Amino acid sequence: MTAMLIGSARVLRSDLKTCDAADVLIEDGFIQAIEPPGRITRENVERVEATDRLLVPGLVNGHTHGHGGLGKGAVGDRVPLEVFLSASGAINGNRTVEDKRLSATLTCIELVRKGCTAAYDLFVEYPIPTREGMDAVADAYAEIGMRGAIAPMMADHTLYSALPGLMQALPPDLRRRAQQIEAAPYEASISAAKDILSNWRHNREQLRPALGPTIPLHCTDAFLLACARLAEEYGVSLQTHVAESKAQARLGLTKYGKSLIAHLQALGLLGPRFSAAHGIWLDADDIARLADAGAGVVHNPMSNLRLGSGVAPARALLQAGVLLGIGTDASNTSDGQNMFEAQRLAALLSRIADADPDRWLSVEQVFRAATEGSAAILGFDRIGRLQPGYRADIVFLDIGHINYVPLRNPLRQLVFAENGAAIDSVMINGRFVLRAGRLLNIDEARVRRQVEAAVERLDAANSQALEAAEPFRDLVGHFCLAHARAPLHVHRRLPDDR
Ligand SMILES: [Zn+2]
Repeated sequence: MTAMLIGSARVLRSDLKTCDAADVLIEDGFIQAIEPPGRITRENVERVEATDRLLVPGLVNGHTHGHGGLGKGAVGDRVPLEVFLSASGAINGNRTVEDKRLSATLTCIELVRKGCTAAYDLFVEYPIPTREGMDAVADAYAEIGMRGAIAPMMADHTLYSALPGLMQALPPDLRRRAQQIEAAPYEASISAAKDILSNWRHNREQLRPALGPTIPLHCTDAFLLACARLAEEYGVSLQTHVAESKAQARLGLTKYGKSLIAHLQALGLLGPRFSAAHGIWLDADDIARLADAGAGVVHNPMSNLRLGSGVAPARALLQAGVLLGIGTDASNTSDGQNMFEAQRLAALLSRIADADPDRWLSVEQVFRAATEGSAAILGFDRIGRLQPGYRADIVFLDIGHINYVPLRNPLRQLVFAENGAAIDSVMINGRFVLRAGRLLNIDEARVRRQVEAAVERLDAANSQALEAAEPFRDLVGHFCLAHARAPLHVHRRLPDDR
């Protein structure tokens, strides 16, 4: 691969303050040098002029679901988490391997178009994950040129057997129907996951396998333990949704007699491989447990607002030393894959949690979480910064765009004002995947035609299942609402208040 010299760009350096004009030398996928214009005198380089471009590290999405791509627009207005979950099997039903690939492709297209160069993808297949399915998802990432941690999302409980008291709260006819819905036994999922992990044929510098037991309440302890053992055996990371809704946190107390995080700690799951998606209803002890274990939490502010789940204590997590990442969650519950919006929401939501401006998330903290923080949670090193020795995963923003006129403080403007509209090009591993607004590795018009056709077919195939899920909707909603309204002694004490 020939070397490339990107000339005269404004480059946001790793201190997130310096942003002067510079030339950037890229070779073998790495940033080799960043120097004032004209100083790099290397010959035999492809020169790319980048005047009027602001170069920033590619954003890293710490939590998404590629299966949500084909589910865009399917989740109604004013739908809380558990009500969404009561219909999600039907929304994702009847998919062929090609549909799964297509859903991941659609998700990747939006990720790249909105400045994301890597993502942690918990992808669901029913009833159990398959090697073909996960390969198709990884192939979709590879085709676009993205990095990813790809995790089969698995459970051995249904929603109805997962939430203590829910089955009993259903009227007899619906209870009978709910009892007939069965999750696959965990041994089947574990052996499928093992098959996926031991036959991973993708370049691990770009695509890593991971594990995604979906939600602790939805997994038996034996299953969670088997996942943890697999993660250890294969050296992969593990992510699960923790305390995303208040109902989850309360029902966790009912089921385990302790908080969800305390339960995961008792099982031995917490550690540097572990990350919790959402982590909203945590108390100060949970936060300390996560920090002590070197575990991560991925903040998903958009999805959390869309589902009315709450606001994660991001500042307290950072303060305690928990590794913080930022994610979008799936396009079905987040309505898109916009990490710029996720950053802005993270910054702004921290301001309603505390009146003390010293306790608001700063733009530096938010940007680091959305780059280096998420990268560490995905298990990739040397991404998330523009610095020699780091991978050349770079977003080129047009500073002629109205978002940057006048350009006064690039970092502040990109966290508070950017929405993806000023993205001109995206490079991953030293190669352009989006250039001057055009995706280079995929025919978007073809993908659109395929998506429209697939959705028409799948919506028809799933209509009966969606109809069958309908009577559960209000009952699940009311059951969880009662828990959401009841008191939960979550202490939002900040560690330095102790
Ligand atoms: Zn999620």
